[in-house]
Order: sequence, then structure tokens, then C-alpha cells
Amino acid sequence: MPLADFPRVPLAHLPTPLEHLPRLSKHLGGPGIYVKRDDCTGLATGGNKTRKLEFSMAEALQRGADTIVTVGAVQSNHVRQTAAAACKLGLKCEVLLEHRVVDPSEYYSNSGNVLLDRIFGANLREYPGGTDFDEAMSDVAAEVTANGGKPYLIPGGASNPVGALGYVNCAMELLQQLDERDLDIGHIVTATGSAGTQGGLIVGLKAMKSAIPLLGIGVNAPTEEQEQKVYELACETAEYIGKPGIVAREDVVANCDYVGEGYGIRTEGMNEAVLMLARLEGLLFDPVYSGKALAGMINLIRTGSLGSGDIVFLHTGGAAALFAYADQLHL
Ligand SMILES: *Cc1c(COP(=O)(O)O)cnc(C)c1O
Repeated sequence: MPLADFPRVPLAHLPTPLEHLPRLSKHLGGPGIYVKRDDCTGLATGGNKTRKLEFSMAEALQRGADTIVTVGAVQSNHVRQTAAAACKLGLKCEVLLEHRVVDPSEYYSNSGNVLLDRIFGANLREYPGGTDFDEAMSDVAAEVTANGGKPYLIPGGASNPVGALGYVNCAMELLQQLDERDLDIGHIVTATGSAGTQGGLIVGLKAMKSAIPLLGIGVNAPTEEQEQKVYELACETAEYIGKPGIVAREDVVANCDYVGEGYGIRTEGMNEAVLMLARLEGLLFDPVYSGKALAGMINLIRTGSLGSGDIVFLHTGGAAALFAYADQLHL
């Protein structure tokens, strides 16, 4: 089924710009580096979840839902964009917030994304790390139903085949930009977490018969587990758009060497990358996802592991979380 036939509600400013980063490219002395600005999707400081939510929210509306139920970490960018989208569409938003960071600072608990969630009036419920969220989500949905509401559940990161359609579409948009500008790209690099971004992108690239390698840089799980998660979602997404079998296991490549001590925990490489991009290009990246992915890309360029072809780095957004890490960044 062509993408245009899936229900979709406009939330994002598209197409997002594709920009060359001449000062970063020169500084690293390797390939030319471009950035696909999905931090500029426009909804409540932007980010990658907005593309996914165009499809998830449309399905919610189509099903007559009046309440969105979703889940994420305290500093989830997904939750912040979902809370904003719910406001824009006149829906209620129930949020399950997971405490994934041990001993959080005052900034982490109250600033950045969670401050914005509160501004959007989302109903925040807090849970300890490691909670079974399948069960907790259905409990909240049952409560909404018992109170006469109609819930629609969006999984963490909106990473299911519906949400991943946003990144199938992004791959097509990017390929068109490369074509129009006659750019020959050696690698596309993105942060990968709940897998919808990388999974959707690989489906879009394969559907368009593109051979550009896609590298996901992990922020959470070990490599094998991350690749398997992306592969499974990519297969489901390919099937969902009526193109089963277009993604092979070896198309899914992740590098999870830059996670550090764990999800949301600062690394020296992230700190260096965030400051480098800010001070060379005036761009803001985040400590949890895009900053760690950049740290990976920078290291792989320095070691010559990405080859000499130009690189497109997908900027997935998240700068709102910088404020939550005010005491963690060494400036
Ligand atoms: C969610 C998120 C990602 C990861 O995308 P997934 O689709 O969850 O893999 C990357 N960067 C930022 C800023 C995010 O919020």
C-alpha cells in the first residue's frame, strides 16, 4: 500500500533542511558531513517523534480515541512531542514516566522535557525503572475506559509499524534531496533507541532501491540486541506497507560502542561532541541520543572506519534535554 494511503495528520514542518557542515568537515579532516535537520520538525522544539506521530495520531483520530496513553523516560523527547501533539489535536494525554536514571538531579527531575510535559498539561504518572509497561499501559487504558474515555496506546518512541511510517517517508524525502542536489553519499548515520527511526529508514531506503549504507549508533542496548530489535520492526513495517521481505538481516547495522555506562548517563565523548557542534556550527544536540550518536560518528571518522564518502547525519533533535543535564555538562 502506498504511503499516501495511510491516515496522516500534519504536525511536522516538512521537508526538513539538509545542510552542509563545512567547519565540522574541515575540523575532522575526513569526509564532507551533512546534517538532515529533523530537530527542525517544528512541534514543541522539534525532533524525530513528530514524523512518527503524524501517523500514530492519525490512527488514534480515525479510531475515535479521545485520550492518548504513552510511555517514556522522565526526559523523554517522545513524551514531550506526544503531549504537544495531543494538545494540538484536542486529545487528553496520559503519560507513564519511567525513572531510568538513578539519583536524578533537580534539573533532571523538573527541567527540560518534563517541564514541557507539564506545560502541555499531560497527566504524568511516575513508575520505577524496570516496570512491566505492557501491563502498566493496559491498566491505564482500562482506567480511561472505566471513566468513559476512549484510549489509544502509543508504545515508547512510537516505535511500531504505524510510527515507523514517518521514517519510511523521511528516507524518501532525503533521497529526493540528494537527487536534486546531485549528492553522492557514502553513509547515513543516526542515533538508534526504540528502533522506529532506523527501522523505518531502512524500509524506505530498500523500497526506493537505494544502496546507501545506514548505520545506527546505539544509546541503550548491546549491538546484537539492538540490531535484532531494529530488524524485527523493519520486517513488520515492510509487511505493513505491503512490501514483505525487502529488508535483509545484514541491512541492519548498529554500533553500540558509545553507550558508556548506560542510557541517559553522560559520556566524555558526548560532552566533546555536543560542544564541538555548538562551537563550530551553532547547532544544539542532546546528551542522551544525538550527542552520543555524534560522538560515535566523530570517532569513526577519526579512525577512518566510515570510508571517504560524504556522510549524512540525521539530527533527531532532543536539545530540550540539555537543560536537564545543566549540571552534567563540563563546559
Ligand atoms: C527517540 C530519539 C531517538 C531514537 O529514535 P528511535 O526511533 O527511538 O530509535 C534519537 N534521538 C532523539 C533525540 C530521540 O528523542
